[in-house]
Amino acid sequence: MNYTPDPDRYDGRMPYRRCGKSGLKLPAISLGFWHNFGDVDDLDESRRIMHRAFDLGITHFDFANNYGPPAGSAERNAGQILKEDFQGLRDELIISSKAGYHMWDGPYGEWGSRKNLLSSLDQSLDRLQLDYVDIFYSHRPDPETPLEETMGALATAVQNGKALYVGISNYPAEMASEAYDILQSMGVRCLIHQPRYNLFDRWIEDGLTDVLLDKGVGCIPFSPLAQGLLTGRYIEGIPADSRAGKEHGFLQQDAVTEKIAQVQRLNVIAEQRGQSLAHMALAWILRHPAVTSALIGASSVKQLEENVRCLDNLAFSKEEIKAIDDIVNVSVEG
Ligand code: NDP
Repeated sequence: MNYTPDPDRYDGRMPYRRCGKSGLKLPAISLGFWHNFGDVDDLDESRRIMHRAFDLGITHFDFANNYGPPAGSAERNAGQILKEDFQGLRDELIISSKAGYHMWDGPYGEWGSRKNLLSSLDQSLDRLQLDYVDIFYSHRPDPETPLEETMGALATAVQNGKALYVGISNYPAEMASEAYDILQSMGVRCLIHQPRYNLFDRWIEDGLTDVLLDKGVGCIPFSPLAQGLLTGRYIEGIPADSRAGKEHGFLQQDAVTEKIAQVQRLNVIAEQRGQSLAHMALAWILRHPAVTSALIGASSVKQLEENVRCLDNLAFSKEEIKAIDDIVNVSVEG
């Protein structure tokens, strides 16, 4: 397929926000490849999603070794599309990958050893058909590996030119702070943290965002739409082609049933704001001063286009914030 990027893609339609105190800016909306790019997916639509994302100013594509299914297929499929359709555009793209979750059998195929991280990075580069990634993450903390070893592997990835920056994902506040200090002692900046954060899951507000703001580390929350729950997707039931409806999707049907009454009430507030629920959920993420970019998924071009329109209204009144918190049962101060 021939792809000519929209020449107006940098006309201000997408804001670029500084990642912590680094020199790097990321688009307010970034695109994740956890679902929708595996061998089980419609790869023509995957290709169209990548094209449209780039046209909308989404310069950041996020991967991990194990995205698919099967594991590895998202990097392989997208790598082929990048090679075929994005020639000459590498310097306009921020590509990230991660290692830490199970990828291959035996003692070296997961967690945080130097062996796992550096072997996995080589495998990811091979699948993506790239010489380097822009950001390489430790995907999860490893309780059994010294943090110095995991951070040392990230530093090596930078020193040998296979990653321009490094980040951590799913690290609790205290460990994130320690990881930052260790990397700094090795002369490497911890660019970014990738945690789960959405209207239902507020754990990062309990210490982590203070650490990130204090250290000048960026934050790119994943599953900002709670895997689709915080959209209109499930308001009338569970569609067969949705993440909760598909056999290989990670969203459990029980989670939908448990939350749907709250989703319906949140939807009323979104309507009062003149927004869709997806818009409100993303705007709510982007209002947080620690947040650099919201890392969304999309199974169609239509969803992608819909989500980017959240940028039209990012402001919240105190009353709206309180009404939202009341629905999700979060107690607020002040
Ligand atoms: P979201 O919360 O944005 O969920 C995306 C899914 O919601 C889509 O695939 C689609 O599912 C549905 N959806 C999206 N937009 C709409 C819409 N406008 N209307 C209706 N349904 C919609 O994010 P993800 O959970 O996909 O996570 C995003 C990225 O974060 C991942 O791709 C990955 O890069 C990263 N991630 C990182 C993790 C980590 O541990 N570091 C863990 C998980 C994710 P469908 O149409 O199939 O129902």
